[in-house]
Amino acid sequence: MSRLPQVVAVSASAVSFTAVCAACADRDSAEGYSGSTFAGRLDPDLDGGTFLCRRGHPIRVERVAGSASAEVAA
Ligand SMILES: [Zn+2]
Repeated sequence: MSRLPQVVAVSASAVSFTAVCAACADRDSAEGYSGSTFAGRLDPDLDGGTFLCRRGHPIRVERVAGSASAEVAA
């Protein structure tokens, strides 16, 4: 099992997110369930974090830059 953790990108202004765990999606498709989504929260001062889906698969969440920030006025 050398699978790398899944990486999910969230927008620069996002505080909460919903993602699909790829590992669970694989498992769910085999078992016929559809419970591969999970929700998480990434505080605004954090650039990223590692979360676990409900089955414990690690998922790396990265905040993507690009959106206008109030602190970076042109
Ligand atoms: Zn999972």
